[in-house]
Amino acid sequence: MQAARRTIPQILIEAIKGILGAKGWIADPEQMAPLLADQRGLYRGKSPLVVRPASTAEVAAVVRLCAHYHVPIVPQGGNTSLVGGSVPHEAGGEILLSLSRMNHILAVDPIDYTMTVQAGCVLADIQQAAQVVDRLFPLSLGAEGSCEIGGNLSTNAGGVNVIRYGCARDLVLGLEVVLSDGRIWHGLKALRKDNTGYDLKQLFLGAEGTLGIITAAVLKLFPKPREIQTAFCAVTSLEAALTLLAKTRAATGDALTAFELMPRVGFEFVLKHIPGTSDPFAQSAEWYVLMELCSARSDAGLRQTLEHNLAEALEEALVSNAVLAESVAQARALWRLRESLPEAEKQEGGSIKHDVSVPVSSVPEFIHTATARVKKAMPNIRVVAFGHVGDGNIHFNLSQPEGADKSAFLAEWGRFNRIVHDLVHELNGSISAEHGIGRLKCNELKRYKNPVELELMRRIKKTLDPDNLFNPGKLIADPEKP
Ligand SMILES: Cc1cc2nc3c(=O)[nH]c(=O)nc-3n(C[C@H](O)[C@H](O)[C@H](O)COP(=O)(O)OP(=O)(O)OC[C@H]3O[C@@H](n4cnc5c(N)ncnc54)[C@H](O)[C@@H]3O)c2cc1C
Repeated sequence: MQAARRTIPQILIEAIKGILGAKGWIADPEQMAPLLADQRGLYRGKSPLVVRPASTAEVAAVVRLCAHYHVPIVPQGGNTSLVGGSVPHEAGGEILLSLSRMNHILAVDPIDYTMTVQAGCVLADIQQAAQVVDRLFPLSLGAEGSCEIGGNLSTNAGGVNVIRYGCARDLVLGLEVVLSDGRIWHGLKALRKDNTGYDLKQLFLGAEGTLGIITAAVLKLFPKPREIQTAFCAVTSLEAALTLLAKTRAATGDALTAFELMPRVGFEFVLKHIPGTSDPFAQSAEWYVLMELCSARSDAGLRQTLEHNLAEALEEALVSNAVLAESVAQARALWRLRESLPEAEKQEGGSIKHDVSVPVSSVPEFIHTATARVKKAMPNIRVVAFGHVGDGNIHFNLSQPEGADKSAFLAEWGRFNRIVHDLVHELNGSISAEHGIGRLKCNELKRYKNPVELELMRRIKKTLDPDNLFNPGKLIADPEKP
């Protein structure tokens, strides 16, 4: 593979500016700064140029020029990812290509239940466009007001509705991709069935911009929910939460769309730091669950089913208390308790993050054992294990002990990663459930991924991007060698 250049030839920069016109590039350091730093502030990259093409043809032209001069490209959507995948290396030898100007919804077909979009469309705008035609695009996550569909597909984003609708990769029928030699793969098909060999789109989904630049996609739509019921429950144990999950799925004919876990410590962070939040219960519990059920029918009787299910769960001592939202405003307030947890966590100082998954039934074992192991290593560490428990995806975050020095605590990141990821591996889990690998987890991937899988991934990269033009130093690369 070609090594990345340290400097970018001026002749290339001028050629790109010429093709894209004044709106198509940024070279002002102040304007570029937010695009060069990742969401968590872990990486601050350098680049002489951010390019902002307005069409697939312009993306292809930039790629052809960069390929000619062997200058790597880092694709960027909303820059909300949490593993450093969307920013260039600090060596300054890469061009940042933002898809944000390619933000048009190209077609909405309520009969086909499909929508064709450019890669730079913001997720919330896509959800809104589906609503307008009485349909649902179910991908939903905390960053939906700024993340873009190209980024969602490239990270195979998860979010809160995976239990019912799957991850981003399950929501795509077709793709358009610019390849590393500047050719365009026109795969924008709206077919539900296409049995003509390898499913090429799956290669680009979750590839974190290392194999091609996604420029457009055909997305799947669903019937719009007419009845939505939201409940917040205090559960008696982690095991009870899992029994409640299985019971609710069965009782509601799989109408469950979200099942989110919160620990008391995280709930207390929210109550302390997020204005306008309050505890709906008089008594505290160690674990809480936020669940949501949806039906496309307005007469599905979900409310009665949920009330009945929760009454049984109280009798069976799975749940010690529960509140059902009486209005949309109340449902929003309950969701706010869960969704503001990452923000509240920040206010408590340093946090060492683990975005992991294990088989759903292993969640209690994972949380109990991981908690015991990290507490053995640092007794006062505060374990904030929360997330999409219905998918076996736990954000096993570790907040610094009260009063500890933030930098000294964060310097322990590697030691705690080892403890937690070793256990995830023992339980046949994944070290990245939904945030991807980026730059942050390249070495962890090498450590835990099966060697055969790693070799196949490297071969695919070599085939599709032989000169290492797209997002070097990410995913299956050496993160220190851009
Ligand atoms: C508050 C908050 C909550 C979040 N919650 C969730 C959650 O519940 N579930 C979840 O999965 N994630 C979550 N995330 C992480 C993040 O929002 C997702 O990873 C999201 O999918 C990233 O989209 P983006 O447009 O910001 O991509 P970016 O951050 O811009 O890019 C992500 C990766 O994709 C590549 N890329 C971007 N666009 C393209 C393209 N068009 N073609 C090829 N490669 C491309 C980039 O190079 C990079 O490697 C959350 C983040 C925040 C800040």
